[in-house]
Amino acid sequence: MSPKSLGVSPQLYDYLLNTSLRENPVLQQLRQETAQLPAARMQIAPEQGQFMALLVQLLGARKTLEIGTFTGYSALVVALALPPEGTVVTCDIDETTTAIARRYWQQAGVADKIQLHLAPALDTLEQLLESGQEESFDFAFIDADKRNYPHYYEKSLQLVRSGGLIAIDNVLWSGRVADETVTDKRTEAIRAFNRQLHHDDRITLSLVPIADGLTLALKC
Ligand code: CA
Repeated sequence: MSPKSLGVSPQLYDYLLNTSLRENPVLQQLRQETAQLPAARMQIAPEQGQFMALLVQLLGARKTLEIGTFTGYSALVVALALPPEGTVVTCDIDETTTAIARRYWQQAGVADKIQLHLAPALDTLEQLLESGQEESFDFAFIDADKRNYPHYYEKSLQLVRSGGLIAIDNVLWSGRVADETVTDKRTEAIRAFNRQLHHDDRITLSLVPIADGLTLALKC
């Protein structure tokens, strides 16, 4: 398998997966089906999923939020790590990819833990705030349109409890963030977002170079 973690050689990546990946068979099937899609690269890496599951367990999370469902791998890996009463609220606008997601959530027996909101995520986040769910989430994962990252982040910061964690995906953007010759809007948006978090004293920060770069922001 070609490395999904930046800067890791194919040999080392195979070793990493062979000696550490513990992937539920339903997750594995979902990954294989998603690999056939034109947008396959939007799926998170399996070692990243396993890392996020560990974080969710470490937090003792029950209530989690996700912005960007795609074909449901990240929601499923989190749902499987949650206790029976745990929930994932996930946002997307794509009916086709989320139909695949629903099929695998059913198959894994965790569909009742996952609430999919098919609407622009900012609307859903606003509704959650209006319905009094401020500071009620333990964990949030942001992995959607990059130009809205600052907005998703601010809303998530309101929705997550003190001591809760926000994980933000693709912050190294295939390395393009560090290449000055790349100046397209999405790359610039991620650079600006990374700079903003660097100086945000509302969080404890760590940028982890797993997969395409995962920022961890622990709410103070
Ligand atoms: Ca992603």
